[in-house]
Amino acid sequence: MDLWEARERISRGDFSLGELIDSLWASIEAREGEVHAFLSLADPRELKRKGDELSEKTLRGIPIAVKDNISTVGFPTTCGSKFLARFEPVFDATAVERLKAAGAQVQGKTNLDEFAMGSSTEHSAFGPTRNPHDPERVPGGSSGGSAAAVAAGEALVALGSDTGGSVRQPAALCGAVGLRPTYGLVSRWGLVAFASSLDQIGPITRSVRDCALILSLIAGHDPRDSTSLPVKPRNYIQDLEGGIEGWKFGLPREYVPRELGPEVLSLVDRWSALIEELGGRVVEISLPLTEYALPVYYLIASAEASANLARFDGVRYTVSASGETVREMIAASRTLGFGREVKRRIMLGTFALSAGYYDRYYGKAQRVRTLIGREFAEAFGEVDLIFGPTSPTPAFRFGEKEDPIAMYLSDIFTLPSALAGLPAISIPGGKIEGLPFGLQLIAPRLEEGKLLRAAYALEQVLA
Ligand code: GLN
Repeated sequence: MDLWEARERISRGDFSLGELIDSLWASIEAREGEVHAFLSLADPRELKRKGDELSEKTLRGIPIAVKDNISTVGFPTTCGSKFLARFEPVFDATAVERLKAAGAQVQGKTNLDEFAMGSSTEHSAFGPTRNPHDPERVPGGSSGGSAAAVAAGEALVALGSDTGGSVRQPAALCGAVGLRPTYGLVSRWGLVAFASSLDQIGPITRSVRDCALILSLIAGHDPRDSTSLPVKPRNYIQDLEGGIEGWKFGLPREYVPRELGPEVLSLVDRWSALIEELGGRVVEISLPLTEYALPVYYLIASAEASANLARFDGVRYTVSASGETVREMIAASRTLGFGREVKRRIMLGTFALSAGYYDRYYGKAQRVRTLIGREFAEAFGEVDLIFGPTSPTPAFRFGEKEDPIAMYLSDIFTLPSALAGLPAISIPGGKIEGLPFGLQLIAPRLEEGKLLRAAYALEQVLA
């Protein structure tokens, strides 16, 4: 059951909000000990009590899980870091505020790689999340807690954040739907900054229509975010029906390299066949700059992270070590407060921005980023949408990607569109080795309507 159906059945009187909350908590009791999707949880009695006042609103008081780098009143916002272990924001993020205004309640906060840096949720200071389909495997990341909560039946929908793939890749690995909106469509106000030119909040759900519903509620201009686009809210549910007859789908040859193996390649062939059965046309295209997306992303994202994370100095927030001088105190706090991966990014980013290297690394990465955007724009002169796998493999085992580059490669297909600021969605595309495998669709800027319509059509035939 998705949120849409839950909402309709509550309105019809099939069951009450209280019964829905009980059934979510029954799943939490049954699965959470193993899955560990949540870092904090609401009191279900309180949710039931407050829910009664919300019965007339769009979301009927239904609880929604929120990634723990999105600010919420009444819960800590830890970012999966020791640094913020006891940090409680005094305001709600705009996305949360808008969902609450529509009658949602915060169900709890979900686990993530520290400061959203990672692809497996192994790098949380509070322990890993496990994949509900196989506890030996990672749920993906960094929004692994959000995707696992939805996949385990512990939540109907969750918010995640996607800087380079963190909504789409865990959705793919957990068999959920995950949407990254156009950069600037959803406000970043209240999302703890990792890489500000890339960060976007997006929904992780059980169905495409739930993504459309949540996006309709959270999208739209917010004066508190200087990069928020001047667009009006829109009802994306209206876009879903209509199908893909006559639409042209580009399959970039760089997104289906031989190395993916015969099982994945034959699944991609099946997707092409289904698109054609629905009246669409599949054409091979080429995005030759794809191979530069990974180095460009890791230079830009790390550079921005090194600036954003400078605010964690041990004077404010929670971790605070002592030292003889201010400099030593800050260094000691950071040594204690940040995990290995976060330190790696800060060092890489500081290096890329330092005098003498700035132009060679950061400046060059910015120029290549512009070219990647241009390459997509040219492709969209030819095709309506682009598709391919969300991630090169299904869920991998814990500890399997010790080498950071091996880990970074799991985002190889989600990084280019993030750099270009484009909307993209991952939907369940079938199974590989018995595990969920995601199909990614990418659209031109602000074409979420088209993106969701194609995803909706494909969802019907893939189910
Ligand atoms: N896995 C990528 C990284 O480690 C993307 C993370 C994200 O989108 N937040 O940076």
